[in-house]
Amino acid sequence: MNSIKDRLAQILSELPTGCTLVAVSKTKPDTDIMEAWQTGHRHFGENKVQELVTKAEALPKDIHWHMIGHLQRNKVKYIASFVHLIHGVDTIRLLKEINKQGEKNERTIDCLMQVHIASEETKFGFSPDELSGIFSSGELAELKNVKIRGLMGMATNTTDTLQVEKEFKGLKKLYEELNEISNAGMNILSMGMSGDYTIAIKAGSNMVRIGSSIFGSRNY
Ligand SMILES: *Cc1c(COP(=O)(O)O)cnc(C)c1O
Repeated sequence: MNSIKDRLAQILSELPTGCTLVAVSKTKPDTDIMEAWQTGHRHFGENKVQELVTKAEALPKDIHWHMIGHLQRNKVKYIASFVHLIHGVDTIRLLKEINKQGEKNERTIDCLMQVHIASEETKFGFSPDELSGIFSSGELAELKNVKIRGLMGMATNTTDTLQVEKEFKGLKKLYEELNEISNAGMNILSMGMSGDYTIAIKAGSNMVRIGSSIFGSRNY
């Protein structure tokens, strides 16, 4: 289990069918990404715009790039032409900017609304109530160049697995409720990282974002 290839294969073997693995390559060199790419893997995640752009320019064009980090409105323009999925939409102002950049690039940009499910205050995202309000208001329908494909959430960073499970189950429930209220047609529930993806999958995740368990720990 000492190579990226082996660890990637191991994690893929643990995922249920229909669950997408986003290999989180932030801070890691292009050679690491290429090692995973050579096995046929195509979904990679980055959390910084500059790093994402640089890697996207240098690496194969068939990679599906996921923007998983906090995204500032003034940086949307740098990734709008190619980004596969934006996971961290946490304000309507940001969503409107993504819509504007989608229009400029003549494409519809797939997005996930980030929901604040953790007990820590530092994590970004809408509250479940805010999001219910937004979905029932119908205001999203006006934004023709974005498509809300689903929700993303990060659980509290804790060893209390019951708490983590509770947070993920809450997000899954919200996802189902929003799909019912508004017929939103969402089909992506992005939850689970290296430390908690097995819990997330049990709670109904169909997209996991895993970095250190594939590429090794990061040195900042
Ligand atoms: C870094 C990061 C991950 C991956 O974290 P690991 O613990 O290395 O698996 C997942 N999601 C987001 C939003 C991240 O920033």
